[in-house]
Amino acid sequence: MKIINPNYIYQDGNILENQAIAFEKNIEKIAPIEDLLKLFPNAQIINLPENSLIMPGLINAHVHLEFSANKETLEYGDFLQWLYSVIGNRDELINSCNIECMKKATQMMLESGITTYGAVSSYGMDLDAAASSPQNVVFFNELIGSQATMADALFADFTARLDASKSIKREGFYPAVAIHSPYSVHPILVKKALQMVKNEKLPLSAHFLESPAEKKWLEQSEGDFKKFFVDFLKQEKAVSNIKEFLAHFTDVPTLMTHVVQAGNEELEILSKSKHTIIHCPISNRLLGNGAIDLAELDKHNIHWICATDGLSSNYTLNLFEEMKIALFMHHEADLLTLAKRLLQSVTKDAAKALGLNTGEIKEGKNSDMLVLELTSKPNEQLPLHLLLHGYNISKIYINGKQVKGE
Ligand SMILES: [Zn+2]
Repeated sequence: MKIINPNYIYQDGNILENQAIAFEKNIEKIAPIEDLLKLFPNAQIINLPENSLIMPGLINAHVHLEFSANKETLEYGDFLQWLYSVIGNRDELINSCNIECMKKATQMMLESGITTYGAVSSYGMDLDAAASSPQNVVFFNELIGSQATMADALFADFTARLDASKSIKREGFYPAVAIHSPYSVHPILVKKALQMVKNEKLPLSAHFLESPAEKKWLEQSEGDFKKFFVDFLKQEKAVSNIKEFLAHFTDVPTLMTHVVQAGNEELEILSKSKHTIIHCPISNRLLGNGAIDLAELDKHNIHWICATDGLSSNYTLNLFEEMKIALFMHHEADLLTLAKRLLQSVTKDAAKALGLNTGEIKEGKNSDMLVLELTSKPNEQLPLHLLLHGYNISKIYINGKQVKGE
């Protein structure tokens, strides 16, 4: 047993004072240090410097490790232009990101306090990097392919990758499924994968209504996507419309990524099916997709969380930076309320959406904790200061194991 003794604990927008934490893999007890010493007289005591704060480790529910080599290669500003640049540079980007490059990306996340991440894996080339990283990982094997003639081969490749991820037996590693998007996955494939997800109760994610071009293509088989599909796949029509796609997910709460272009009708369906929206503000801005309307999501009682997306559409994998950008993007929201919501979204709410026992400094939860060095006694605007000031993270614990700090 270990006892860590901070000045403050941040949980759900509140600041607890004079409470220490007794923990092993899980948080065993939160109480004043004197009480914990009586309960656990042989525990190892970890004392912390003045103004230390413990908060839950952050959860980045959506990242693409395999594209971590991108810095100046891909073209930003417009979704289709970006997509063409991905296709034009895909081989070079993938081949230039070896395991070291991907480990650097997981380390970048760790340094900024990310103790759990959801890796969307297109090719399975990131499996070793994810398996050997210190974080909890939900490994989303992605299914893609809009041509019915290729369905069997694509599904076989997908299940082989899924099986490989199931063979990883370590604490905090969870195989999962991602459906690439409504425009890129044939309904036959979606159906087969969803059956698997239901049978095996696997976490599920999908990109959904990211760009205006995607919406137009799904609704009318027209717009900027038309040329793309005709040129690359000789495909004249979308494989599903929006409602047909969503119908597959009716009984399966799913992490739907982006959803910037959803209107009232789509939001009603998302709400009814209890899906969670993953909001990636930096990616949305860089790819020219606009800003999601968070107030509309709240009106529809839709859960939303914040994530970084991959380095293919971001300059960093830092959730504090991502939340700060969200804070400025959604300028009409009350500042402090939004700061609190964002922090909750990358801790407690993300854990809930991924089905993990973490994201809270609470008895029984996994010991995924950050120690931050504040510069003075925190006040009621702490959530805001946490996003603005990039406080030093001096120690990190994941499942009770120290992975950063002295
Ligand atoms: Zn993505």
